[in-house]
Amino acid sequence: MDSGFAAALRPGMTIEWKGMQVPSVEQVYDAPHLARNPANCAALTPLGFLARAAAIYPDRLAVIHGARRFTYREFNERCRRFADALRRRGIMPGDTVAVLAPNVPALLEAHYAVPMAGAVLNALNYRLDARSIAFILGHGGAKLLIADREFGALATDALREYDRDIPLVEIADGDNGPPLGGIEYEDFLGEGDPAAAWSPPADEWSAIALNYTSGTTGNPKGVVFHHRGAYLNALGNAITFGLDRHSVYLWTLPMFHCNGWTHTWGVTAVAGTHVCLRRVDPALIFDAIAEHRVTHLCGAPVVLNLLVHAPASVKRRFEHVVEAATGGAAPPSAVIEAMELMGFRVTHLYGLTESYGPSTVCAWQEEWGELPLGERASLMARQGVPYLTLDRQRVADPTTMRDVPTDGETIGELMLRGNTVMKGYLMNPAATVDAFAGGWFHTGDLAVMHPDAYVEIKDRSKDIIISGGENISSIEVEEVLYRHPQVMEAAVVAQPDERWGETPCAFVTLKPEAEEVAAADIIAWCRANLAHYKVPRRVVFGPLPKTSTGKIQKYALREQARDPR
Ligand code: ADP
Repeated sequence: MDSGFAAALRPGMTIEWKGMQVPSVEQVYDAPHLARNPANCAALTPLGFLARAAAIYPDRLAVIHGARRFTYREFNERCRRFADALRRRGIMPGDTVAVLAPNVPALLEAHYAVPMAGAVLNALNYRLDARSIAFILGHGGAKLLIADREFGALATDALREYDRDIPLVEIADGDNGPPLGGIEYEDFLGEGDPAAAWSPPADEWSAIALNYTSGTTGNPKGVVFHHRGAYLNALGNAITFGLDRHSVYLWTLPMFHCNGWTHTWGVTAVAGTHVCLRRVDPALIFDAIAEHRVTHLCGAPVVLNLLVHAPASVKRRFEHVVEAATGGAAPPSAVIEAMELMGFRVTHLYGLTESYGPSTVCAWQEEWGELPLGERASLMARQGVPYLTLDRQRVADPTTMRDVPTDGETIGELMLRGNTVMKGYLMNPAATVDAFAGGWFHTGDLAVMHPDAYVEIKDRSKDIIISGGENISSIEVEEVLYRHPQVMEAAVVAQPDERWGETPCAFVTLKPEAEEVAAADIIAWCRANLAHYKVPRRVVFGPLPKTSTGKIQKYALREQARDPR
């Protein structure tokens, strides 16, 4: 290479060109006066969304909870009180504050107040048992617990096991349960000064939240989110889901699940209205949509299915289109189809706790609108393309790190990369290193890449069924089962088999009004619609065990399938 040119690539050097002294790139674009300074660079954080909404739209309705209403001015003031009250109770930057609550205003407020105090929010899954909660409190080192009285017994038992004396703040909300001996949440807010100063984090890499995976993959791991990722994913949601200042967002998705997929911050970013909901009950959901003219809601496919199969007496038709984002598990196309027939518009998202919730979206293509509903729903059941705020996704062989061909058939592992991937697992360097091997986040999900660059998840690596050396995607078999006219829900897991190693075992819940269906009928239906080696050998009827985030507990079903009948 020309030595003058090479020299110009070194910082601080100049080169001579046509008799002039030309500064190097570093001297031009990276000159000292072009460095970052407080005027042109601030840490990205979702905390500013609230202050901004309150300053611009102080009287706009921010939060609805039963008969209670808070404007953005009030919402902001409550969060500021809350942050100051935390500080007065000795919460320091970097401390963990745990909250055990359903979707009530206190948990939403904690999403602002806890990080405003510099602390880290650990929203707990209230369907866990006391031992698991105590494990999480201990692992996360919680310094204060805020618990809803509805989960009073769980909180008390967990605190006893935690064996560390921490303050308890309890949320009273109508008749949600007896007092627990702590300070009531509204009294606690009263301890704080709404005018007390707070400052955003100096570094956007600071932790904002700690979320434990639901443990369907083994021991729960503490996923650490930073302010930067929370900010970006919240905006990614707003853009992807079309949120704006007219949006009315119904909290059908647990806020403890990846901070409500970051909608806790995203809805505030656009100064929309949060409608809280203590319980996921179809009657309450249909009523809330009608009463508050809800425009957006999210939920796992089982939640959508709950709406689809709600009794006719609670179902309602709306004059407006309700946007429903679903994810957390593969939505059968039959569920997407049924939701559309009820007047909802479905957006399919995919993600994990490690990716702040949604990281891919099945982006809509105009020409799909021309297709028959069934075909359209199949395209929409794919997990899709990266979020605007993710950097990249790929499907690759995890050993060679080579991409699979884009043929919609070859299975590889879905890997993600970008600014909305977690910091890592709390106090678990080994699992963090494994998860980031090769500079990509390994999702543990097996997928194919279609020629149109849409990914489709075939299974979780541990859920795939290997029968006689052939891979069987449980999702593919479930998809066929969901299309059976009498089936409401289905899950397929591996069952040990002497000859084939594993064979599919189907667990099926029939529709409430279903006629009598025999296992042989289900098997015949599958034979008519699937390659024969994919057909379940055994069909078990009954309700399906679910996690609090609405996922079917396949590990429980696998255990059941392992038992000889
Ligand atoms: P856990 O891993 O403990 O269940 P997560 O909530 O982080 O907790 O679950 C993420 C997993 O959920 C993904 O790895 C994937 O297997 C599954 N998942 C999420 N969204 C989808 C989707 N749209 N389609 C299929 N599977 C999904």
